[in-house]
Amino acid sequence: MKYSEYQPRPDLLKDKIILITGAGDGIGRAAAISYALHGATVVLHGRTLNKLEVIYDEIESLGAPQPAILPLQLSTASSREYEHLVTMLEEQFGRLDGILHNAGVLGARVPLSDYPIETWDEVMAVNLRAPFVLTQALLPLLQKSENASVVFATSGVGREARALWGAYSVSKVAIEAMNKIFASENSFPNIRYNCLNPGATRTAMRAKAYPQEDPLSLPTPESLMPAYLYLMGEDSVHMTGESIDAQN
Ligand code: NAP
Repeated sequence: MKYSEYQPRPDLLKDKIILITGAGDGIGRAAAISYALHGATVVLHGRTLNKLEVIYDEIESLGAPQPAILPLQLSTASSREYEHLVTMLEEQFGRLDGILHNAGVLGARVPLSDYPIETWDEVMAVNLRAPFVLTQALLPLLQKSENASVVFATSGVGREARALWGAYSVSKVAIEAMNKIFASENSFPNIRYNCLNPGATRTAMRAKAYPQEDPLSLPTPESLMPAYLYLMGEDSVHMTGESIDAQN
């Protein structure tokens, strides 16, 4: 199937409660707005409160369901802060129908021989540890959904390790592995897990990775939304443990 050609029903995500990490910018912002416009109540996670407030206002002005805001710095989040996040979601919503683990950092583009350890730790904390800890902590809420979808952001350098991509490539290779393990352990049959590779996309992260590239030559985050909607909605209910490309 060509995910880029998927045509979602307007009410695909009606009554669903979906957490989006890194919702303040780039692909996460586009996904939050698109999910809300398809009926979801979105929980906007990010580390920069004012960016989340702007998206919140945008979603409200579009007449979509009222979102929630959940700021958390993932590079340093403590167990207590994760517990607080779970409690807040439990009290406010009582269940969760989906998580888009989208927040990510690029880190350094240098050989491993020179890779700064603090940058390594930050990339691993945001790109790998946070999706693991959040998924595990939120399983009780995902279990309460009829059909829950957990989506991990991957990358071309997660399919095959690539020189000069350092911790970023290692974190994405590992997220692909984690996706398969969660899916094959199949602890709760109502929860599916899949990886989604946006491919080269016009965002701040891509511009940092490829400063010479003309951003206007790249697809926008909005243009990728068919695949993001497909994996979050019930048309993908049969899929688990897979890794797909948004631009295919
Ligand atoms: P982006 O524009 O840089 O956005 C990343 C988001 O993650 C931002 O909202 C950022 O928050 C948030 N974030 C970063 N560090 C965080 C932290 N420590 N705590 C909480 N939130 C944090 O990146 P993007 O291009 O949209 O990328 C989204 C996902 O797609 C990433 O997982 C990336 O690896 C993956 N991806 C992107 C491309 C591409 O071409 N763009 C290609 C392959 C894969 P702030 O806005 O507050 O900084």
